[in-house]
Amino acid sequence: MNKIAVFPGSFDPITKGHESIIKRAIPIFDKIIVAVGVNSEKAGYFAIEKRLKWINQVFKAESRIEVTTYSGLTVDFCKKVNARFILRGLRTSADFEFERAIAQTNKSMLPDVETVFMLTTPELTPINSTIVRDIIKNGGDASRFIPQGINLTE
Ligand code: ADP
Repeated sequence: MNKIAVFPGSFDPITKGHESIIKRAIPIFDKIIVAVGVNSEKAGYFAIEKRLKWINQVFKAESRIEVTTYSGLTVDFCKKVNARFILRGLRTSADFEFERAIAQTNKSMLPDVETVFMLTTPELTPINSTIVRDIIKNGGDASRFIPQGINLTE
């Protein structure tokens, strides 16, 4: 059976932290669906189309990576795409507490799906999309925190 994982998130924008987790997970799964959550009540900072474009650019050479949007519950999306795994990254103990609650709730809603966690590599621990957005909003250069070749002004 195909091992399909969903990597859900806002990716607003994709960072080197996300990129690293996805790349490290490629040998584990047959397919990874990077799923950008669309929330009708929370627009986010960058347009969904741009977020998708940048993720596609990063993984254009990777046939096992798919990029798409979804709305609603992550478990419902997993059912729809036949994914048996949800991939998440862990940076800190705060991440752990947050992720634990979500993963255990998802498990009780859809027992067939396992959440798989990968620990961040130490140098990428401080990177998060909120900080990247703050740097950009204040006219700073965030390029060292985002994947190579991505231009957030395009
Ligand atoms: P959300 O909106 O659900 O927080 P994000 O887009 O911020 O989603 O992140 C998606 C996933 O990527 C989460 O599992 C998050 O823990 C992980 N992640 C984000 N930044 C990093 C990082 N620097 N290192 C490892 N994992 C990360």
